[in-house]
Amino acid sequence: MDNNNQTRTRNLSRRGFLGGVAAVGALPFAPRSVRAQSGICEAAGVDCGAVAEGSDGMVVSVSPAASEVGAQVLREGGNAVDAAIAVQFALTVTQPHSSGIGGGGFMLYYDADEEGVEIVNSRERAPAGATPDMFLDDAGEPIPFDERHTHGDAVGVPGTPSGLERAAELYGSRSIGELIEPSISLAEGTDVDQYLAEQIEENEWKLNAAAREVFVPDGQALSEGETLEQPDLAYTLRLMREAGIRAFYEGEIARAIAETVQDEGGSMTFSDLCRYEATIDEPVAGYYRGAEIYSMPPPSSGGLTAIQILNLIEPFELGANYEVRSGTKYHLLAEAMRLAYADRAEYMGDPEFVDIPTEGLLDPAYVAGRRELMSPDSLIEEPEPGDPWAYQSGAAESVSRQTARALGQTTHFTVADSEGNLVSYTTTIEQLFGSGFMVPGYGFMLNNELTDFDAEPGGANEVEPGKRPLSSMSPTIMARDDDPFLTVGSPGGPTIITSVVQAILHHVEYDLTLIDAISEPSIYAPESPEIALWEEGIPEEAREEALALGNEWGEMDSIGNINMLRANDAYEGAADQTREGLAIGLSEE
Ligand code: GLU
Repeated sequence: MDNNNQTRTRNLSRRGFLGGVAAVGALPFAPRSVRAQSGICEAAGVDCGAVAEGSDGMVVSVSPAASEVGAQVLREGGNAVDAAIAVQFALTVTQPHSSGIGGGGFMLYYDADEEGVEIVNSRERAPAGATPDMFLDDAGEPIPFDERHTHGDAVGVPGTPSGLERAAELYGSRSIGELIEPSISLAEGTDVDQYLAEQIEENEWKLNAAAREVFVPDGQALSEGETLEQPDLAYTLRLMREAGIRAFYEGEIARAIAETVQDEGGSMTFSDLCRYEATIDEPVAGYYRGAEIYSMPPPSSGGLTAIQILNLIEPFELGANYEVRSGTKYHLLAEAMRLAYADRAEYMGDPEFVDIPTEGLLDPAYVAGRRELMSPDSLIEEPEPGDPWAYQSGAAESVSRQTARALGQTTHFTVADSEGNLVSYTTTIEQLFGSGFMVPGYGFMLNNELTDFDAEPGGANEVEPGKRPLSSMSPTIMARDDDPFLTVGSPGGPTIITSVVQAILHHVEYDLTLIDAISEPSIYAPESPEIALWEEGIPEEAREEALALGNEWGEMDSIGNINMLRANDAYEGAADQTREGLAIGLSEE
């Protein structure tokens, strides 16, 4: 393991739970669809499904082909970071609508040797030519979301390739070239899954000519089961395999990205790409029910907001006092979300540009004061942000004005290896198919991540050159007595945070199995009095109870696409079956 003195790790003691080899038995849960392709699932010691177990390793992703690529790397002796790098390249190919080298993400990594958690932060940055008012029209009004997310100004300088490069240098044991290899074959031909087919149809309107050629060949949108052929992407991957990641930022790929963005009205230049470098960050840390939580710090709002919500609800002892589908449970959760989202909107942005009251927001006395506003019997009329600066000395206050924006749908995946290293990685191009721009001749989609900035200037999350937009991505690792026991993450824009919170709540407090915790209906309530989104399965009676307390019910829809990993005597992985996710567990043969 390559340990760099400059990296900062948060210490955890060495985990002991991988000493023994647990038997892998058949699990009762029947996966909705297991579409493994490579035959790895038939091999001895390999367990595949919506739920899988393995004593020596685990990969969980939304894409069976990508999970297989990761599992193969582990089987050949690669570590969790090697496998994660290979999975990310594979997702570029099989999930071009939600992840890829044209985007960014956050890799949360538990290093069993170093006994610490750190983050490879590959969030996209605004180019030097970006301006605070670039998403306003001539009258000073925000440009409608559908217009602004399909304009060159929406494209951030991609971070994913640089993140993978740094991860490989710091923690990997294989060359990037080797880890790209399986994705080159996938790019030559892979199956279109149901979700991709639906998304091609829904997003055809915004695809540029290069993307249409790939996803809508001869004017016919590819449908489920057809073969997706991406020769230009295979070329790009070969180039990166031969010339390394720098080919992306300092060579022909960078020139092509800048040209594509400029053709679409954006300012990104070759120099913006040359300058990009992923950072290594420390996680934000907190506690819930005596367990440690490590998650994403700003420029993601994910960790702070998730921990705040969990700390707000903790003393209500939901698991002991309220049925998992009771109206009061939904009411209290919604109230905690509203308080935390009020703070999120007020105080969070890129810490390189704004001061954030990180300690104040999580200070137990501050959270206790906020909790006093909550009651199982009544609704907070207008949840306002609190004053976390009063709980933290030092910096000046900042004021944010967040503009409502559409939910994106990125992807989250998980890897664990036989040494106890864990990766919890959320990776995105923001909206489905990002900006809709494929780089002609290079075959990958460009993100629209800069629409995560506020369209209106003046707040903590306003656009500035070189700045990273506020994210909600929340890859999370939980540990008990310093031993990691759970990882969780999800796509879904601002709903990511509440999906992660509820998966934790349902598993830790309601004691549901991973797959039940994932599948248990969830809610999303960033503002009062509405529970803006809720999932099928919430009983009418509970809805009436919450309504009587003053809540309103918005739209019923599916929220997020969670996957989780439990580390105990062996690993257990679970993949949300709202898409085609596959968990692959590995044990000694
Ligand atoms: N752009 C989103 C974020 O960073 C992620 C994409 C999604 O919405 O899933 O929060």
